Amino acid sequence: MDERETAIEGALHLSEVRLQGALQRAETYYAQFERTKSQLRAIMDASQEAMLFLAPGGRPLKVNTRFSGFFGVDDTTVLSQTPAQLTVLLKGLFVDGEALDRWLSWSTLDREHIFREQQVQGRRERQDFDLSSLPVTNVDQTYMGRLYVWHDVTHERAVDRMKSEFVSLVSHELRTPLTSIQGYVDLLLHDEEVGPLTALQREFLGIALSNAHRLGRLINDFLDLSHIESGKLVLHCEPFPLVQLIREVSSSFHLSLAAKQQDVTLHLPDPALMVYGDANRMVQVLTNLLSNAHKYTPVGGHLEIVVEIKGTLAHISVIDTGIGLSGEEQAQLFTRFYRAENAATRAIQGTGLGLTITRSLVEMHGGELQVSSTPGLGSTFCFTLPVVNQ
Ligand code: ADP
Repeated sequence: MDERETAIEGALHLSEVRLQGALQRAETYYAQFERTKSQLRAIMDASQEAMLFLAPGGRPLKVNTRFSGFFGVDDTTVLSQTPAQLTVLLKGLFVDGEALDRWLSWSTLDREHIFREQQVQGRRERQDFDLSSLPVTNVDQTYMGRLYVWHDVTHERAVDRMKSEFVSLVSHELRTPLTSIQGYVDLLLHDEEVGPLTALQREFLGIALSNAHRLGRLINDFLDLSHIESGKLVLHCEPFPLVQLIREVSSSFHLSLAAKQQDVTLHLPDPALMVYGDANRMVQVLTNLLSNAHKYTPVGGHLEIVVEIKGTLAHISVIDTGIGLSGEEQAQLFTRFYRAENAATRAIQGTGLGLTITRSLVEMHGGELQVSSTPGLGSTFCFTLPVVNQ
């Protein structure tokens, strides 16, 4: 063997060793890759939620077994669909086709945001789902697609509905006898034909009547809340004159304000201003806010209602110089039955339901109820209503 042949043989041997090393590494990587794939598959399949992973163009890349369990379509079928075919297939599985177009567009249009959609309705025995969708990115931050996750809430929603129906039924049943009690106590107090009452009898009957009214308000709050939660509360929206409505509500507080030596100032725009909403429900919203401002403001305090027009919205603020709320209290304000823990609140009657209902009513009108407050100085509650173009 001459020198050249020896060199070639050496080089060949070196290449073979390198190739073997590369092959061994590739095998190791492949085994690792397969292990990771199996782990990922196991995690996805063990999940209680149905999952579907779509490529950026909307092609299905992965689906877990829970998806087949929930919707009755096997993974091979799902994964063999083109994006257009997948849309048709999913439309067969969910009730609201229009919403579905929107969810699917997330995978092609949005590479950043997490989306959530409540009350997604499956077709099989009317399943209820919460859907969330999140973008999936690679280690180098390139967008790999979107994961869709359906959480089955059918049972929770059914229990919620039963609870709301029960509260609604009980409240209705309580209202009839209560109205009769209120009527008869009122007669005893005010109808001269019933006969004279001693001062003590009058005092006791007065207490009974005030408590019957309190019970009535509680029952009405329960009914409203259960109707809001079950989606049964329907708004009757139409244009109405806001300024007139505010004047009516504030004058209904005339006596209670006088009893606490409080005054109310109104800063209102042109009385011809029309806004769009359910006037009766707006009376309820304003009554609740004004009643709170009155209740939680000490004797001699000052209340204000301000309406400002900004663009297409009327901003309505109810302002008081009352006891105010700390940041912590403000954070819990809209929780059912929440009442701030202080001596002033304990001495004042209330259910802790008014603001929860008020906020829901404002939100049903497309607005938002906002609060700003400083303990000891007062509070401002503000919400919006759309102005009607005139
Ligand atoms: P209620 O007045 O019947 O207790 P709400 O839901 O209307 O129920 O209000 C919840 C709680 O929020 C009240 O108990 C009170 O602690 C606090 N709150 C509401 N409005 C005001 C206000 N204007 N100033 C101070 N605290 C308030």
